[in-house]
Amino acid sequence: MEEFVGLTPRETLKRVSASLGCSPTSAEVASYLDKHDKLRHLREKFLVPRIADLPPSDLSLVDGTKDCIYLVGNSLGLQPKMARKYLDEELEKWAKMGVHGHEKGLRPWAWAENTIENLMANIVGAKTEEVALMNGLTVNLHLLLLSFYKPTATRHKILLEDKAFPSDHYAIESQIRLRGFDPQQSMLVQSPRPGEETLRTEDILEVIEKEGDSIAVVMFSGVQYYTGQLFNMAAITEAGHRKGCYVGFDCAHAAGNVELRLHDWGVDFACWCSYKYLNSGAGGIAGAFVHEKHKDTIKPALLGWWGHDLNTRFQAKSELLSGVSGFRLSNQPILLICPLQASLEVFHMTSMQAIRRKSLLLTGYLEYLIQHYYSEDPNQPHKPHVRIITPLDPEQRGCQLSLCFSVPIRKIFEEIQKRGVTCDMREPSVLRITPVPLYNSFSDVHRFIETLGLALAAASH
Ligand SMILES: *Cc1c(COP(=O)(O)O)cnc(C)c1O
Repeated sequence: MEEFVGLTPRETLKRVSASLGCSPTSAEVASYLDKHDKLRHLREKFLVPRIADLPPSDLSLVDGTKDCIYLVGNSLGLQPKMARKYLDEELEKWAKMGVHGHEKGLRPWAWAENTIENLMANIVGAKTEEVALMNGLTVNLHLLLLSFYKPTATRHKILLEDKAFPSDHYAIESQIRLRGFDPQQSMLVQSPRPGEETLRTEDILEVIEKEGDSIAVVMFSGVQYYTGQLFNMAAITEAGHRKGCYVGFDCAHAAGNVELRLHDWGVDFACWCSYKYLNSGAGGIAGAFVHEKHKDTIKPALLGWWGHDLNTRFQAKSELLSGVSGFRLSNQPILLICPLQASLEVFHMTSMQAIRRKSLLLTGYLEYLIQHYYSEDPNQPHKPHVRIITPLDPEQRGCQLSLCFSVPIRKIFEEIQKRGVTCDMREPSVLRITPVPLYNSFSDVHRFIETLGLALAAASH
């Protein structure tokens, strides 16, 4: 969409609707944007569920043969079509040659994960040697904290956001206990200002500046899972380093969503899962990053054979690999590598820059339509009240918008699900709506807004 470069989403919508002679809210605008979307062919690389196959859908209300409106890639990405083929190939190989599969075929199991680490590294802005694919996200967070969290009597705190993802909270709390410290004293939890939903960068930087001498590790998410806020990782990293802290990020909601430059920003360590924006399927193999500056100094606390040199792995005195590769413990699950490979190859057909460019317009379009139909002002009686919790500044968010309704959400959620929308609900009143630029269309967003209107009307009866 080169003709729109430099325009805000609002300006783009005005320009397109003027040229089509329709309202910016018309479905024609969505069709036009889809037709001119340079990434639209990538949707074909994924399996989009049909409405009829979704358990909550009510076929008296909606045409079941249509694609569902899948807006929950922040929770579980769609299945890449090639996943099944790659899995079949490995099952076939296992059936036909058994143990020889470790070294033969398209994906020798003994080093299959290594062959896709470069694709993964591209997505998070890292060098290949800085990335490992292993375990699950929470496991990787633990392994990294075992090496980066070295509390002392004076420097023992971990700074994190309030209402961090529960697993991160548990991991950090238990790591603090493991070292004999008290989470009450050592967990420094930062909340937004009263009346605000998201953290201000200046407030994060101020806490680091003020408390930095007692902070061992600054550990934020890249994109906050609930609010959708994208943190300024470069500024947080710099501020942490100025005070002598290690800085790590949980990129579960950032990897494959926004442009990351973990290497250039000098981030010390990071971890992420692959089943959200990276579409590897539930429980998919996770990622870990250790900056190359630490490759000879930061050592894994726990060792396994897979962190050792492939050629001498079977020997008791093999060489521990430097950097993040040395953190690997067990031989990697080939059946999890297959779907991740299928997805990463789709990312490789484009770039995070192009994905982000589409994302800014796609999510901007959703924002425009929400603001058009719904009021922020609870005192306005004519329109339902919907507040966007996610920052309105596109630099401070990824593709997700978290919508807070003035009414309890459960009934509305049920009504939109009956009509073929798949999204995420957090009681009492929040919907997380996530148009994923890799496979969602502008028409998906338009259909969602239409469906939301019908659901609100149905729920109020
Ligand atoms: C999704 C998510 C998790 C899930 O952890 P698993 O170990 O993959 O189950 C943890 N932390 C964050 C921030 C997440 O978004």
